[in-house]
Amino acid sequence: MLASAREVKEAIYGRRMVLFAPLYASNECSNNCLYCAFRRDNKDLLRRTLTMEEIAEEIRLIEDMGHKRVLLVLGESSQSGVAYAEKAVRTTYETTSGRGEIRRVNVNMAPLSVEGFRRLKEAGIGTYQCFQETYHPEQYRHLHPSGRKADYRWRLGVFDRAFAAGVDDVGLGVLYGLSDCRFDTLALLAHAQYLDTRYGVGPHTLSFPRIEPAQNAPAAEHIPYPVSDDEILMIVAILRLSCPYTGIIMSTRESPDMRRELFGLGVSQVSAASRVYPGAYADGRAHVEEAEQFTLGDTRCADAVIRDLGECGYIPSFCTACYRLGRTGHKFMEKAKPGDIQSFCTPNAILTFQEYLTDYAGDDTRAVGERVIAEALADVIPSLRATVESRLECIKAGERDLYL
Ligand code: SAM
Ligand code: SF4
Repeated sequence: MLASAREVKEAIYGRRMVLFAPLYASNECSNNCLYCAFRRDNKDLLRRTLTMEEIAEEIRLIEDMGHKRVLLVLGESSQSGVAYAEKAVRTTYETTSGRGEIRRVNVNMAPLSVEGFRRLKEAGIGTYQCFQETYHPEQYRHLHPSGRKADYRWRLGVFDRAFAAGVDDVGLGVLYGLSDCRFDTLALLAHAQYLDTRYGVGPHTLSFPRIEPAQNAPAAEHIPYPVSDDEILMIVAILRLSCPYTGIIMSTRESPDMRRELFGLGVSQVSAASRVYPGAYADGRAHVEEAEQFTLGDTRCADAVIRDLGECGYIPSFCTACYRLGRTGHKFMEKAKPGDIQSFCTPNAILTFQEYLTDYAGDDTRAVGERVIAEALADVIPSLRATVESRLECIKAGERDLYL
């Protein structure tokens, strides 16, 4: 199975790896999820909701690392509802630093009503992510004792409301460790299949976080159903084989060694240099127990992660072309399934990586990157190669945001 997953990954995604950074804007939360440090009963947490000026400051620092995609992450509270999310998304798009800009804002926040999703869509979100955590109803009830999130069905129906509002780019996930991983993986795939059958569009991404240590979180201290490294490898292989065209996202919860193994098996998007508490990029510390959601497994800077990807033979990609050309939902799947989109993905990965190398890379990363681009050009379909080569020259000469 592992070998088959590697083959599918290679055939569909080639050597591209999309990068993003999370922006934790609020750690205030009225829920009480037993595994999360943001839970209401954690009285030791320093609570904070960033102002729009503070968001802009964080975004400039994220842009200065070279990122073009941000995942906005919010606790569920009256301060961080849809009106706040709308403003945060708009502020993110409007904030630039030198040549840096964010071209796609994805959002991971509590389930909304149809009207709430309409507003987020209007603000220009990319993917809306929401993890069911566990699909096992009894275990779910036990782990979510109070707050809005205690309602299993409100969460389970979240994507139906998103689709009703025209948000057709959605990300599903399970928090591994909460329940039997075989049950949750099957349920996650059943959910994906349901969306595909009902709306003709499966999920855009799948996520497979594992529980990490978190302050005053009993289910993170005594993980109910621990999931081993070997099991996670199998889970990623199963997801890749079951949903070949769906992005698989890995966060910095995993260690650098596990991350390297999982790249080859099926992961297509990774975060780099993530910080998981509000104001963290300005603060500069990787680990602040009294403010963060959980302890990071990979605290390297973005340039080190990008160099490592290049050394492992991957093309780090900052591409956001599909979203900006309106290729989402049906339109994305129509092109992805026959493999049409893939011919554009490698060129776009190369072009956006060249932007990174020119604007942000350290000397060592630039040397690795130039080698990677030279090799990757051989994978570009012959009819597009000359265009890509001439656009690479345009980027070196100062043009930006070129894509096919
Ligand atoms: N508050 C919203 C919600 O719960 O849907 C969105 C933000 S929440 C911070 C994002 C995700 O973090 C959750 O869906 C959960 O899967 C994950 N998470 C919570 N505690 C975690 C932990 N201790 N280790 C790893 N991931 C965790
Ligand atoms: Fe709040 Fe989300 Fe953490 Fe639950 S997982 S306590 S809802 S931030």
